[in-house]
Amino acid sequence: VSVCRYETKATRPFLRSREFLWIEAHDAFATKEEALQQVKQDMKMAEEVLWHRFGIPFVFNKRPEWDKFAGAVATYTADTLMPNGKVIQQPSTHFLGQNFAKAFDIKFEDKDGKEKYVWQTCYGPAISRIFASVIAWHGDDNGLIFPFEIAPLQIVIIPIKHHENKEVLEYCKNIEENLKEKYRVEIDLSDKTPGEKFYFWEMKGVPLRFEIGPKEVANEEIVIFRRDTREKMKVKLKDVEKKIEELAEKILENLKSRAKKKFDESIVRVNSLEELKNALQNRKVCLCGFCSIGNEGVGCAEVIEKELKARVLGSPMNLAKKPTFEKCVVCGKQAKETVLIGFLY
Ligand SMILES: [Zn+2]
Repeated sequence: VSVCRYETKATRPFLRSREFLWIEAHDAFATKEEALQQVKQDMKMAEEVLWHRFGIPFVFNKRPEWDKFAGAVATYTADTLMPNGKVIQQPSTHFLGQNFAKAFDIKFEDKDGKEKYVWQTCYGPAISRIFASVIAWHGDDNGLIFPFEIAPLQIVIIPIKHHENKEVLEYCKNIEENLKEKYRVEIDLSDKTPGEKFYFWEMKGVPLRFEIGPKEVANEEIVIFRRDTREKMKVKLKDVEKKIEELAEKILENLKSRAKKKFDESIVRVNSLEELKNALQNRKVCLCGFCSIGNEGVGCAEVIEKELKARVLGSPMNLAKKPTFEKCVVCGKQAKETVLIGFLY
């Protein structure tokens, strides 16, 4: 359903809009194990979409006790970053246990004939926020950059000198005809100059641009421009489909590795409040020791919020090398957890 926010907080494109599509998956299970399995599956799906298809690096955090979804047993959120160093929550999944079932008397008849409370989970895919992250992670000063698979327009064909040479247009149309079954492809026949067209479609983030003039027609070639690396290459017409497939993969790999490098560089380890403060000022997200993400830790979290205006995001779950720390960065007591701290949108 489409819903409207009634509160008057400032809106931001994609991140917090007045009207948005409310998409949530709610599941009910007979057993706790099945419900926990669903939570794992939600996380896998988030990874498949965010990382493998959209190329957005993120970390799954188990939110602290004081910051989980109200009524949930546990909340897990995929957190990524914006270029200004702020953390933005992407999809989240919640294990609700039997809390809501007991409050709303949601029961089922089990195989043994007895009525039992269901175990619930809930998942929010955060669709428009994922779009915001794609734009923020992959774009450059010339505009948008999209992975090939998700680009609204995948290939734009720019005919050059087609007014003087009728064969050029025919050649372009044949290519479009051959490719349009499989790809989203368009010829730009507007009155703009080729240079203006290049600029326009770069801004729109079209992954591949075909430049075709009389020379390409004569040689049965295409000049292909790659939006992400800005490389140009000549390809024989007969090899074009193979080349598109190859480039689609390379573009995604390149965007992923570029983003991952930036993401990894944005996470630093800190051992004291002073180090934490400095790192946050440098737009980093910090890994540090924390006494607890259970209710005992709430006092230390309040210090972070009041003094540094930052948030304890929780305990990272899918970090390649998760270090351990001896002491809580705030109170100095034994650190039971390694947490991420950052500025949250
Ligand atoms: Zn502490």
